[in-house]
Amino acid sequence: MQDLQLYQQLLGLDEPWYVTGVRLNVKAQEVEVTVAVRDQLWGCPQCGCRMHVHQWENRTWRHLDSCQFKTLIRADVPVVLCPEHGSQTVAVPWAEKYGRFTKLFERLAIDVLRECSVSAACGLLRISWDEADGIKQRAVARGRLRKQAHPVRRLGVDEKSAGRGQNYVTVVARLEPGQAATVEYVGDGRKQEALDGYWQQVSAEHRAGVEAVAMDMWEPYFNSTVANVPEAAGKIVHDPYHLGQMLSEAVDKVRRGEHRVLMETGDERLAGTKYVWLYGWENLPEAHRERFDELRGQKLKTSRAWAIKEMFRDFWASQTAEEGKEFFRRWYGWAIRSRLGPVKQVARSFKAHLGNILTYFTHRITNAALEGLNNRIAGLVKKAFGYRNRERFKTDILFHLGGLDLYPSQ
Ligand SMILES: [Zn+2]
Repeated sequence: MQDLQLYQQLLGLDEPWYVTGVRLNVKAQEVEVTVAVRDQLWGCPQCGCRMHVHQWENRTWRHLDSCQFKTLIRADVPVVLCPEHGSQTVAVPWAEKYGRFTKLFERLAIDVLRECSVSAACGLLRISWDEADGIKQRAVARGRLRKQAHPVRRLGVDEKSAGRGQNYVTVVARLEPGQAATVEYVGDGRKQEALDGYWQQVSAEHRAGVEAVAMDMWEPYFNSTVANVPEAAGKIVHDPYHLGQMLSEAVDKVRRGEHRVLMETGDERLAGTKYVWLYGWENLPEAHRERFDELRGQKLKTSRAWAIKEMFRDFWASQTAEEGKEFFRRWYGWAIRSRLGPVKQVARSFKAHLGNILTYFTHRITNAALEGLNNRIAGLVKKAFGYRNRERFKTDILFHLGGLDLYPSQ
């Protein structure tokens, strides 16, 4: 009698459900708890209409272990036959509909899956890979459903390579100030449809409420946002992170070209300096400083390109769009007269998109946090040894980085 009451308590069972038996199978290392109901009258899960039990469905759920013993709950669950909704199995308080685990077990499994790899979690929880996958899928579906009601005002869009080759996904992240960035959506590829897919699942009201969208100068994303967000032109921001990246790439192109030319005369000055030029002045590691100062003192194209990149950082310190525009005019003149092909090319590109660069001074949004998420996504890819299954990859991103409420409701 004692263990019946104990399990009644552990399962948090209330009338009309009660524990009828507890059986310990030492050989199988299992505890089997049988649960029954007293009531003969049940409401249809669809309409609430009360009726007699039509038949019983025997079901089993995995519950939290009892002292390392796998614990199973077995019950005959009432099925009603509703004149309107047909045969309906009633809900049990300890599990979700169709679930094969109790809510408490799923909760634990979610916690474990968030902390370790799937294979480690399977080992700890003694569940199969498919079961772990199912728990994740259900958790994400639950979380997304709960999230739909909340508008996202500030977001960032970026592409991410998903494993091998030109296999891209489009990642949309929520970038609210003072809050951790979360992944809102993962779309296939990086064409316009990839981002359209996000906008289509957002209500018209919430789309109109979007205040700012940070992105690089990738046209399909721009077009998708213009097509889906009212007055998007004033909301799209080509953000500091991506512009800085473009300039760094230009500096590196100049360096590679110059290095090639220098090497023709056996001049190895630029060998192994790639990373030296990527740092901002104040972040330059001590180990590089001496070499860098020496290089800076020589009249190298690379150091000129670097100086133009560094100067552009002050652009972001402008107080207003007007001030930014004036700064840009001066910087652009300098860059365009630099006689450095890659730098001129980037400067022209900035000029062509200036309207959506100056929007920064209204919205002050940057994709830097989304890049942080991207690194964590790369970590997921690595942990899963590259994803062959695209849907699984998307689920995993949302499971780990979606900021979703994943637990079954109590
Ligand atoms: Zn009904």
